[in-house]
Amino acid sequence: MSEMLGLDFMRNALLAALFVGLAAPMVGIFLVQRRLSLIGDGLGHVALAGVAVGVLTGQAPVLTALVTAALAAVVIEVVRARGRTTGDVALALMFYGGIAAGVVIINRSEGGRTGSLNGYLFGAITTTSREDLVVFGLLSAVIVAITLVLRPRLFAVAGDEEYARASGLPVLALNILLGVLTAVTVVVAMRVIGLLLISALMIIPNAAAQQVSGSFRSATAWAVLFGVASSVGGVALSYRLDTATGGTIVLLTIAVFALAMAAGAAVRALARRRHRLAERHAHEHGPGCGHEAIPHGDHVDYLHDGHRHAAHEGHYDEHSDDPLDHSPAEPDAQEVRP
Ligand SMILES: [Zn+2]
Ligand SMILES: [Zn+2]
Ligand SMILES: [Zn+2]
Ligand SMILES: [Zn+2]
Repeated sequence: MSEMLGLDFMRNALLAALFVGLAAPMVGIFLVQRRLSLIGDGLGHVALAGVAVGVLTGQAPVLTALVTAALAAVVIEVVRARGRTTGDVALALMFYGGIAAGVVIINRSEGGRTGSLNGYLFGAITTTSREDLVVFGLLSAVIVAITLVLRPRLFAVAGDEEYARASGLPVLALNILLGVLTAVTVVVAMRVIGLLLISALMIIPNAAAQQVSGSFRSATAWAVLFGVASSVGGVALSYRLDTATGGTIVLLTIAVFALAMAAGAAVRALARRRHRLAERHAHEHGPGCGHEAIPHGDHVDYLHDGHRHAAHEGHYDEHSDDPLDHSPAEPDAQEVRP
């Protein structure tokens, strides 16, 4: 570990991974909510064309990729706002066009070599320079700040566009903002895990978080924790095992997802085993039945001889303040609201 931290390029790599692991899930959660999980993938394809333009013209590829991907994000949102059917095709055209243009342009600039694109497609984290790091750090800070400040609004729009529009939110502007944030995330991540794999770090930590958490607030915290653990852990692991960094990070996120799924299932099974029946009684609890009513999550418990009884499928359960006593039936993560 200390040997790894003693290397300049590894320190840079671990820091870059920390930035990406933090920012990617925070943007990704809104993409998952909007059911646009693959848009980061598409913008990654488009950013490749931007990288190629940078290589051809001698500009910084990070900058040209950022501009190209952000422009594409704006176009996608405007097209989507005009109608869904043609929007899908427009998206597909843009994604294929992005990667095709990238390959064509890079070949012109280097006399037929596409090898130089590999680092951008699959990540080349150990080439992260100090200047890159400063740019990535600033961009990540912007992403985190904006998603935190605008979270209620972004969430409202991601959850139900019609309702958000009816309540006066600038839906198109917020969607464009989310698209641009996605584009920025893609570019920040391109050195770390590559343009073809970045989407994984936006989506999978959120999917894993939904396995272990019921509320939106804690789901975000879990997602960021999973994201950082996967990206930083992936960099360290790839150094130790001498494997490709981007691929290692993504495989690690998938492992984390599998663990989270197992943990979530175990907790739910435990809660089911805790299901305790109250003694049978003829008395039927209800409003004004004479027992104190105690609101408990999505239902009401009634205080009966010192026990809390909750109606459940034709019988009564024993409840208490222990969260395991009250596990809501399979929380549907899509329904979770802030
Ligand atoms: Zn009663
Ligand atoms: Zn209860
Ligand atoms: Zn009772
Ligand atoms: Zn029951």
